[in-house]
Order: sequence, then structure tokens, then C-alpha cells
Amino acid sequence: MLPATPAPDASAPPASVHAPSVQPLRFIPRDALVQQRVQASRTTWLARIGQAMQRHKRVILTVQWLVVLAYLALLIIPAFMPIPNESAHLYNNLRLFAQFLFWGVWWPFVMLSMMLVGRVWCGVFCPEGAMTEWISLRGLGLPIPRWIRWSGWTFIAFVCTTVYGQLVSVYEYPQAALLVLGGSSVAALVVGYLYGRGKRVWCRYLCPANGVFALLAKIAPVHFAVDQAAWKSSHTRSHAVNCAPLINIGHMKSASACHSCGRCADQHDGAVQLAGRTPASEILSLHNKDVSSEQAYTLTFGMLGIATAAFLWSSSKWLVTLKTTLANWLIEHDHMYILIGGALLGGSILLCIRLAKLTIGDVNLSWQRLALGLIPVAGMGIFLGLSMLTLTHLKAEGWLPTWLAQARIALLVLGGSFSAYLGLRLIFTQFSARRVLGYVLYLLPVALTLTIWYRTFFVR
Ligand code: SF4
Ligand code: SF4
Repeated sequence: MLPATPAPDASAPPASVHAPSVQPLRFIPRDALVQQRVQASRTTWLARIGQAMQRHKRVILTVQWLVVLAYLALLIIPAFMPIPNESAHLYNNLRLFAQFLFWGVWWPFVMLSMMLVGRVWCGVFCPEGAMTEWISLRGLGLPIPRWIRWSGWTFIAFVCTTVYGQLVSVYEYPQAALLVLGGSSVAALVVGYLYGRGKRVWCRYLCPANGVFALLAKIAPVHFAVDQAAWKSSHTRSHAVNCAPLINIGHMKSASACHSCGRCADQHDGAVQLAGRTPASEILSLHNKDVSSEQAYTLTFGMLGIATAAFLWSSSKWLVTLKTTLANWLIEHDHMYILIGGALLGGSILLCIRLAKLTIGDVNLSWQRLALGLIPVAGMGIFLGLSMLTLTHLKAEGWLPTWLAQARIALLVLGGSFSAYLGLRLIFTQFSARRVLGYVLYLLPVALTLTIWYRTFFVR
């Protein structure tokens, strides 16, 4: 029986027609709030793209294997073709076409894509990632040994492949490309066969590009966002997600390790969704413990030091003059120039960052975290350096764009000002003269990198 509706209290004052209507406070359980938030995040257009990636795993798999076939064909066939004659073009000669595709399109635009959409290349297109995961499903499934888990491998592998690649002229000869890229693919297959079960152990710990990609993805404006409360309270745990790069998804806060494969999108009651963010948000929200020294060394010595030296070793008359002045024997040992020049450049940048950190004297801002502010300028430098190869090919075909100088200046300004902004936000959590001096020291590597690229492009 329903309770009788209570009669109005005659002693209560009558409600005034002018009194504001007060809504009764309603208690909403925490789980319900989480659900509301998750429901809202599920309906954005980015979230729908992520959900589509999750639903159409087979399409992604097909794309991956088509890329594997194209990669193997373009890697192997040109290595057995004769040197092209004078009349050959990249549209009628497979050797030139493969060279253009590998070094003029693939590398520069994959780097750019990391900064724009995160590691979608890794999760959707990369042939090595697909091959190592495929063989890992059929391999020995051994546990991952401790030596593989050492976090310095990606830095060492990046330096070694950059220097060795220059040494064997990987950009010019398909045989050299077969050796370097093919060697890396064979290593990825061997590691996949030995370790893990359907995982990408190679990608997580050993891939030479992993360290650089992990840094660049930090400034991507899209990522797979995890609602940790929703993940924890999810009732669909039985549906395990196979995250190939071995991420603890429930605790994922960074886009660095995520391959953006989309497999976890909308899983665990919608706790993971593809979402937008401001490009500065990840770097500004990190804590000291979230940034390792290896990441900071990859950025300063690897991307800003060795890679810059490798791009410029033969193209900049300014640096060739410097080389001659330094020592004549460097001319005969160009690969040593990359190492020595890169170490000097990286060392000066590191020194500025460490001095800046000491000057600021804030325990909440480690030098490693401060160094992350240089990611945009380093990323733009890498893209511009790699795109020099694109332009060499286009120039040979007579297709050089007329807006090249403006585009280069725009990218340098964008990278430099974004790094300057990140430094400003990281350093000026409060104002002091020490922080001003620290900021000036922080800006020196930004200015140095911009000067190097400006002189390379415009002061010949
Ligand atoms: S980590 Fe390296 S091998 Fe793995 S998917 Fe990315 S680029 Fe490919
Ligand atoms: S967390 Fe793992 S499963 Fe989810 S998108 Fe990233 S790589 Fe894929």
C-alpha cells in the first residue's frame, strides 16, 4: 500500500511568489558521476574514430599486411637493380621511387605524424611492429629477460643506427638501406619469436625509433585517454585487452608508449576513449618521477645533438669550415665528426639545461622535466633535417615548391616559440630573479638550435 501524501503543514509560512525556487540537493553516487563523465566522452567525433578502430581490427590488420608487402618489395627489389641512368625519374624507376618513398616521405612524415596524431604509425602502419607481433604469437613465448628491460637501449640503438646509417650512406644506396632497415626487421622478428606471447617486446624495449617517437608523441593533440576511476569500477574485466606494447592501461597517463592501435577504445565500460588535449598538457602535468634521465639524454644528445650533426655533416658549408678548423683528420673520419659534433652540441645543450635547473633551485622541477620543454624545437629540427632529402629528390625532378623558405621559417618559429612557451610554464610557477636567469639559460639551447637550422637553410 502506498503511503498517504502528507497534508500541507498549516503552521508553515506560505510560499512567496517572489521567492527563488530552490532545487533540492540530490546526492549522486560517485559511480554515477563517473558514468556520466564516461558517457559524455563517448560521443565526441574523436571517440567515435577510436571506437571504429576498435571495431574494425581486421581492417587495420589488412592495412598492416599490405604495408608489410610494400615494405619488403621496396626494400629488397631495388637492392638488385642497376644504378639508374641520367634519364631516370622517380616515377619511372623503382630504385629512385623506393629511395624517395623511404627517405623523402616515410621518415620525415612519420616524425611529423608523431607530433600531430601520436603513434598511429606504430599501431596501424608499421611493418616491423606488425611482423614482430605476428611472430610473437607463434614463437617460444619466453619471459622477457632483465637485460632487455634496461631503459637505455633505445638511446644506444638510435645513436648507433644514425651514425652507422650515415657511414654506409643509407639514404643513397638501396643495398645500404637493405642492410640497415632489413637488419632491424630481422632483429625485430628474432626478438618477437623468442619473447612474449602476441606482444611487441621489440617495440617496447629495443626499437631504435622508440625513444624519439615516445618523446614526440608527448605533444600530440590527440591520445587515448584513460578514465582511471571508470577503469577501476568497470564490471567487464573478463574482456581482457591485448595491448601489444605491454602497457598497464588502467594507469596510462602518457601517450609516449601507446601505439594508438585502438584496441582498448571504449573497453572496460568506456573507460578508454580517443580524445583531444592541448599539445602542452602532458608535459605540464608530469611530475619529476615521470621523466627518466634516458628520455632526457635521448632528447639532448640524440635528437638535438647526434641527429642534427648527422643531417648537417655534409650539407652545411658553415659546419664543414668548422670541421676543417677543428682538425684535418676529421675530414677523413666523417663518422667521428657526427659523434664528436653531436656530443659537443648535445653536451652544450645539456649543460645549459642543468645550469638552468641549478639556477632556478626548485626541487619540484628536475632537469629531466625541464629538458622536455625542448621537444617541439627538436621535433621540428628532425622533420626539417629529414625533409632535406625529400627536397633533394623533388629538386632533381624540377618540382621544388616556391613557398619553401616561408614554410621552413614558419616551422622554425612554431617549434621555437612552443618550446619557449613550455619553458615559461615549467619555470614560472612563481616569479623570482633566479627564475628569470634560469629561463634565459633554458632559452639558449632553443636559440642555438634555431640558429643552426637558420644558417643551414639561409646562410650558405
Ligand atoms: S616501435 Fe619501432 S618497430 Fe615498433 S611499431 Fe613503432 S616504429 Fe615500428
Ligand atoms: S593502450 Fe595499448 S591497446 Fe590501448 S591504444 Fe594504446 S597501444 Fe593500443
